[in-house]
Amino acid sequence: MSGVRPAAGAPVRPAPMERGGYNERSRLQAGGGAHGLPVIARAFERMPLGDGPLTIADYGCAQGRNSLAPISATIAEIRARLGVDAPVSVVHTDQPDNDFATLFALLRDSEDSYLREPNVFASAVGRSFYEQVLPSESVTFGWCSYAIHWLSGAPVASAGHIWGRLTTGEIRRAFERRSADDWRMFLTHRAAELQPGGCLVVVQPSMPGHEPSTFPMLMGWAQAELDAMAEDGTLRRSEAARMTVLCYERYPADVRAPFADGDFRGLVLVEDFLNDLPDPFWGAYQATGDAETLADKYVGFFQAPFRPSLLAALDPDRDAGFRKAFSDRLETGLRNRILAEPQPLMTPLAVHVSLIQKQI
Ligand code: SAH
Repeated sequence: MSGVRPAAGAPVRPAPMERGGYNERSRLQAGGGAHGLPVIARAFERMPLGDGPLTIADYGCAQGRNSLAPISATIAEIRARLGVDAPVSVVHTDQPDNDFATLFALLRDSEDSYLREPNVFASAVGRSFYEQVLPSESVTFGWCSYAIHWLSGAPVASAGHIWGRLTTGEIRRAFERRSADDWRMFLTHRAAELQPGGCLVVVQPSMPGHEPSTFPMLMGWAQAELDAMAEDGTLRRSEAARMTVLCYERYPADVRAPFADGDFRGLVLVEDFLNDLPDPFWGAYQATGDAETLADKYVGFFQAPFRPSLLAALDPDRDAGFRKAFSDRLETGLRNRILAEPQPLMTPLAVHVSLIQKQI
């Protein structure tokens, strides 16, 4: 069926986060990542730490702000075991066009930077984590937060919706297949990179199993705005059809699937859990009644990770003025809908955490 085959113009990979902006507008992701922090100590309880070099890998770092807490916690575990003399290498990885400059400036300037500690060294790799990005058996501990729900590419040329989870039928199945394949591919490469006994903590957005989430409302509104722009000719139909954010959230069963028969490529799923993720913005609105701020926060949450994917789908002849006008119109549309009827749009989301260990 030709409709499910990626074609010229389909997004071949996720667009990088907005330059500089992701650090400022990723509070939800930071709150989600925090659910993985206690697991770091449990990982180190099980890990042998030999005399060899210690490497911490951070898969999908973006501009790094949300990596500071988990990497600092990891270094603290190493220091508790081996003291301050053991040199630690921290390798942040992301796509080649990621804004690594902002990451390194943050590491230099932030009071929370782990580089304030002695004997810690930071570097970066610009290469997709769907490939092997570090030497075999070189990684002591890996961390991956809010990144692995980004697919390796578009599973269909035109999904017909901004969010794969709101597609149906054959297209939906293509997303499911791609998501399952990508998770296995990610694990396969991490299995090669981890030292024997090394651990990996993966934190990923998930969907709550027990009650409907309001998140599809926000994604539905965004789609309605894009449809309106295609309808009145602002967007070309071919552009609108390509506008899919390549995120596909996994349920716990999807995360566990590769481990159904025990280990997967020598990796063992040691523990995993699903927690509700409170909507950080709705709680504040209930206290203040400030709808403008609520709209700012929800629109900011949408724009920082997702707008780059929509802009990437525009035809190359669209100039900066058009791109800004398009982005402003989408933002205004979403804002007006929120102001007209303030309601929780991210309640509840869920976060899934897994602790994975390479067999010794
Ligand atoms: N870890 C941070 C940032 C998450 S933003 C946090 O917890 O907030 C998601 C990041 O994953 C983006 O920077 C994006 O470029 C990156 N990403 C998406 N697909 C990727 C891939 N195939 N390889 C490496 N990084 C990827």
